[in-house]
This record gives sequence, structure tokens and C-alpha cells, in this order.
Amino acid sequence: MTQKAAQTEVAHTATPWQTRGMSDCVRIERRIDAGYLNIARCGTTKPGPHETDIQETWANAEFIVTACNSHDALVSALRGLVPNLLGNGNDIGCWGCGVVFWKKLGHDPDCSVAKAAAVLESAGAL
Ligand SMILES: [Zn+2]
Repeated sequence: MTQKAAQTEVAHTATPWQTRGMSDCVRIERRIDAGYLNIARCGTTKPGPHETDIQETWANAEFIVTACNSHDALVSALRGLVPNLLGNGNDIGCWGCGVVFWKKLGHDPDCSVAKAAAVLESAGAL
């Protein structure tokens, strides 16, 4: 088994995560009883030519934290909504685009329900 395969079987650190500015980077961490658990380091205070500047590093770190802290709730909400909104793919149309028999015909290209279902499927959650 590769190291990556072994890692996929381990759950990520529980959320919520937060950012904190350090002397040499922006740190993503989780508050624990004993202080902070270091999860990841973003950027550097002395970026090279192929690294983001400190403002973009902060924006990236905040984006990562926001996405990770919201992930489980978003997946849960989509899991609750999408199956009901898809109908059964036969005689009940998709609530997003109205296409009946969407399993044979496909959804309209801009169907939000189909996009949500694709996100869940790519996350292995549908
Ligand atoms: Zn649809």
C-alpha cells in the first residue's frame, strides 16, 4: 500500500480550524486543550518569485479554513436535498431543470441539482 493510499483511510483533523499569523508564515490550526494543533503552514514572509505575497497567503489560508470548516455541513445538506430534488429519473422530473427521464436524456447544462449531484458523487457521498 502506498503512503497516499494509507492516508486516505485516516480521517482528517476535526474542525473547526482557524488561522494564526506566525513570524514566518500563516498557520492553519485547531485549538485544543493544550494549545494549538498545527495542521498546515501557508506561504512565507519572504516569498520567492514563485510564491504568493503575504496578502494572498492570508486570503488562501482563510479560504482553506472556510472551505474545510463548511465541508461536512455542506455535504450533509446536499445529501438531504439532492436525492429528493432529482426525482426518480423516470416519471418525475428533476426539480432543478424540469427534465423528465433525465437518466436517459440528461439534465439541462445549467441544472443546479445536477451540479450538486456531481459534487456529491466526486466526493463519494452520493
Ligand atoms: Zn436537472
